[in-house]
Amino acid sequence: MKKFKKIISYIIMIIAIIALIIVYKKYNFNDFEKSVRESDKTIFTRDSSVKYSKMDSYKIENTDYNDSMFSQTISVIPNTPYKITCMVKVENVENKNNKTSGGAHISLVETGETSKIVNGTTDWEQLTLMFDSKNQTSIEIGFRLGGYEETSKGNAWFSDFKIEAGYANNNNKWNMACFIFPKINVNVEVDGKIQNVSLEMTDNDIRTVQTNLSRFKTSINQISNNKMSIEYETYIINEPITTLSYDKENGYYVSASDVYKYINSYLEEKEYDHIYVAFRMADKQKGNSILVNDWIGLGGMDYLGIGFSNIRMPDDRNNMVYEYNYKINTFPEEVFLHEFLHTLERNAKEYGYEIPELHDYEKYGYKEDTTEGLKQWYSDYMNKEIDYNGTKIGLPQDIYIHKPIHESNFKYSKKLDTLKEPGNIIEVIKGMFKKIGKIFEYSKNNLNLEEAKQNITIEGETAK
Ligand SMILES: [Zn+2]
Repeated sequence: MKKFKKIISYIIMIIAIIALIIVYKKYNFNDFEKSVRESDKTIFTRDSSVKYSKMDSYKIENTDYNDSMFSQTISVIPNTPYKITCMVKVENVENKNNKTSGGAHISLVETGETSKIVNGTTDWEQLTLMFDSKNQTSIEIGFRLGGYEETSKGNAWFSDFKIEAGYANNNNKWNMACFIFPKINVNVEVDGKIQNVSLEMTDNDIRTVQTNLSRFKTSINQISNNKMSIEYETYIINEPITTLSYDKENGYYVSASDVYKYINSYLEEKEYDHIYVAFRMADKQKGNSILVNDWIGLGGMDYLGIGFSNIRMPDDRNNMVYEYNYKINTFPEEVFLHEFLHTLERNAKEYGYEIPELHDYEKYGYKEDTTEGLKQWYSDYMNKEIDYNGTKIGLPQDIYIHKPIHESNFKYSKKLDTLKEPGNIIEVIKGMFKKIGKIFEYSKNNLNLEEAKQNITIEGETAK
């Protein structure tokens, strides 16, 4: 009888352990931390039925609109290219405000950089996020359903996380792409009413953009004293831009997500280090349809880690900002240079340098020249020749080799162990005991995503 009791208690113990393992397997996110913007709208589980490989997938279920993710802070070597990949599948993913910046994606939590973003219902596909660690020694990587400026509902499954370290390409030649959109046809809110605005560039406008790009290629060599050079291609996209983004300070503008579907195939084909989008948009002269707050260029934005600028043709045929004229404007390519410098300014700050603000020329005694604008300021800014308190300040001189990270940086890459998951049941059990030990430590689940800072700045230029 005693022996029988002992057997029963063994069986109960084994069943209890199995039950514990099953529960653990369903909710264990290994070294990932879960976080949500609003509680009670998200369920995190491991899924053994919808999965990509033999490992259970990581499922985020947003039962209502939310921004949620699981993330890991990993150690990185400064100034090194990294590539994170994973497989993703989504089901019925919808965004609350219909913004394309929400959905399932990989996110660099501090900088706001993201991989491609997936919505709707899709089969398994690969997501990639490439970045330079800059001056960081650790980086938080999130696998996310939602976004900084959007919330999403639906299901997302993530699997097969990989991380690779690559090699920097230290040359100073920047490949640029300029996408010219001759047409916009958008519904926008003007004075509280939804209005359709349709505008077109003339052939002459298109030629003007092309002429200025060609001038820009020559002048950047001169202005930088050959510290950098550019190559560029222009693409004329005949489909109209149909959505615009909005920013309180600048008004309507074209963000990466507004043109993603038109330009991404070109960017997958060739590695570009900077992107311009040129289009016509109305301004004050247009009366009712004031769309922008008087800017002609916008910069400091990014498109999947690549610097991204707007070049706007004002809807005023008398505006001479892009026209060369020896009496009034000998530097019509200024906007191209100015917006690109915002990207270098942002990069320098992200590398941890203290630099003057690009807009602070007056503070350092520079004035806008009547014919060549701020050319002297840009030259001193790029060459670190601005006099300040007995020293010279400006962009760090190695900024010209810190270009965006591309697939070619990983030709000879090193696979890293970080983000690796337990491969078999023994490792799962080992991980379980490690976790039980940790339960007694403070755990910071449900970190408030509202607090995660958004690092996106957009700089607008006043039209002359
Ligand atoms: Zn600016």
